[in-house]
Amino acid sequence: MTADAPKSPTSLPVVADGGRSRPTQREHRDKPPVDPTTLIHRELVSDEFWRQIPAYKQIDEATFLDYRWQMKHSVTKVAKLLEVLQDLAHDDFISDIREGFHHAPMAVRVSPYLLSLIDWSDPYKDPIRRQFIPTNSELLPDHPKLDLDSLHELADAPVPGLTHRYPDKALFLALDTCPVYCRFCTRSYAVGLDTDEVEKVSLKPNNTRWDRVYEYIASRPELEDIVISGGDAYNLRSDHIRAIGERLLAMPNIRRLRFATKGPAVMPQKLLTDHAWVDALTDIVEQGRKVHKEVCLHTHFNHPNEITQITAQAMNKLFERGITVRNQSVLQRGVNDSTAAMGLLVKRLSHVNVHPYYVYMHDLVKGVDNLRTRLQTALDIEKDIRGMTAGFNTPTFVTDAPGGGGKRDVHSYDWYDRETGVSVYRSPNVDPNRFYCYFDPIDLLPEAGRARWADPAQHDGIIAEAIETAKHRPS
Ligand SMILES: *Cc1c(COP(=O)(O)O)cnc(C)c1O
Ligand code: SF4
Repeated sequence: MTADAPKSPTSLPVVADGGRSRPTQREHRDKPPVDPTTLIHRELVSDEFWRQIPAYKQIDEATFLDYRWQMKHSVTKVAKLLEVLQDLAHDDFISDIREGFHHAPMAVRVSPYLLSLIDWSDPYKDPIRRQFIPTNSELLPDHPKLDLDSLHELADAPVPGLTHRYPDKALFLALDTCPVYCRFCTRSYAVGLDTDEVEKVSLKPNNTRWDRVYEYIASRPELEDIVISGGDAYNLRSDHIRAIGERLLAMPNIRRLRFATKGPAVMPQKLLTDHAWVDALTDIVEQGRKVHKEVCLHTHFNHPNEITQITAQAMNKLFERGITVRNQSVLQRGVNDSTAAMGLLVKRLSHVNVHPYYVYMHDLVKGVDNLRTRLQTALDIEKDIRGMTAGFNTPTFVTDAPGGGGKRDVHSYDWYDRETGVSVYRSPNVDPNRFYCYFDPIDLLPEAGRARWADPAQHDGIIAEAIETAKHRPS
């Protein structure tokens, strides 16, 4: 406020609210200039960033934008990674990932796009490396309550590859492959190739299996909303996108479809150069619109570094075609578990017309407890994020409750014991009588909590006591 600002009571009304006065119109006008660092969500990497990778030094833009080149050069083995990086990565890091690949429950697959966005001078801290390339040194023991299908997607499947848990919506796992493999994948029981650690359930794209899925969906009048996932819809051929879309849109009970793919976050090139795929999707969206049914795309960005000028071009193309894109992130330690990283992600997604929809607590998945956070972290970040931007661009933070409880707002727990790290949720639309528990990673618990989990004889007691406390709290 300037020194000569009028100070009469009429021009500066002061509201009596416990000693704090509300800002006046005059003060609003004098809002200090914005801190430019709060606008960095608009600054997208737009140079030929891939040329810093030795193997891609000679790759021109047209080649790098070709999705076939991206797919063909995706890295699945340590030897290939070494060929690509040459002297960019340190020897001790290389031996660390050599061991890491061997112990990982997930197959490894990383696109050249992602490899080029990793800061190889500090790969341990890099948020993209942490999501896709396993090391041995970071491996922690799994939580004792972890099992491979922790969300009970198999148990809740009336036919193979269809999970019907909620009343009006179901999850169709159309295939079991993806353009990349994420270490934290909740479907590591099925997705990707068998690894040294896990032999997978098979969910091949297969018309006979799909026919059983369609028959089931058509036979359940309460089903209105189908998520077409996998695996990843990016790996469905364009004629599959069309066939699945048309078959489901033709069912009178179905009102909404979503194709789920991580593709835009890991290989935006496909949206720019695989015309048949994008046209097939557009066609289904338009067919849906004509019969007043919503078809949209759900994707999965986790860190603002994944969003470049290439992403913006790809998202612009979908936006021009009127395709709604929503995002689901997974909260991960050392990736996006800070207000700064999550806030920038939310703002940058909004900037490229992607709606931040959910942020999930990391599921209990084998071999990645070092990527999980405490529930408290989600509670804290959610408070910081809400109010930062438009409400429709503000994600809901959810726990997908282990044991098949479904998605719960992180704040809606009936009890959260911060010492043992057990949070207890109810889920009336799934089962009004059950209690579902989520477990914080043990290494982040206070000493007393770690000591209790160190004694297997106490495990059942820890859980029983948390549920008992939840029962006696008003809901
Ligand atoms: C997430 C999920 C859905 C879709 O839930 P929304 O909250 O509507 O996004 C449907 N079925 C299953 C089994 C799911 O896990
Ligand atoms: S893209 Fe999705 S389904 Fe595939 S590995 Fe990643 S999280 Fe799992």
